[in-house]
Amino acid sequence: MHQGSKTMAGFSGSCLCGAVKYEVSGEPVRVAQCHCDDCRRATGSAFATNVFVKEEDITVLQGETNSFQHAADSGSTMTKEFCGNCGSQLFGSGSSAPGIKNIKIGSIDDVGDIKPQIEVFTSKSLPYTPPLEFTEKFEKGRPR
Ligand SMILES: [Zn+2]
Ligand SMILES: [Zn+2]
Repeated sequence: MHQGSKTMAGFSGSCLCGAVKYEVSGEPVRVAQCHCDDCRRATGSAFATNVFVKEEDITVLQGETNSFQHAADSGSTMTKEFCGNCGSQLFGSGSSAPGIKNIKIGSIDDVGDIKPQIEVFTSKSLPYTPPLEFTEKFEKGRPR
């Protein structure tokens, strides 16, 4: 996996306590800021910024995640992966998108120029959350 001292376009991350560390090779396939109720509740924050990557590009370097599954309004089964020690959310995935996981942007060590391209569920955004100038916006989920 590692050739030379620098990865091409990858990034690394960890949970708050440092028990779980990961790295990702390659570029994100999409970055979406999500204002849905589930993301808000799961992250405990005003919205979630989800960095979607190919599952095969993720390497967990240390530790392991616990997981929780729930049903989305769409009917998909959603999986949240988090550190069992400190509770930080690291990865998410959905049954409708096999082979893809999203990484919670807050877990990334150096975000660099990774930023949302789209915003979804803007109809649910908190009144004080300003819309970003550079994103494509969807009132609900991203159309497939
Ligand atoms: Zn942790
Ligand atoms: Zn969401």
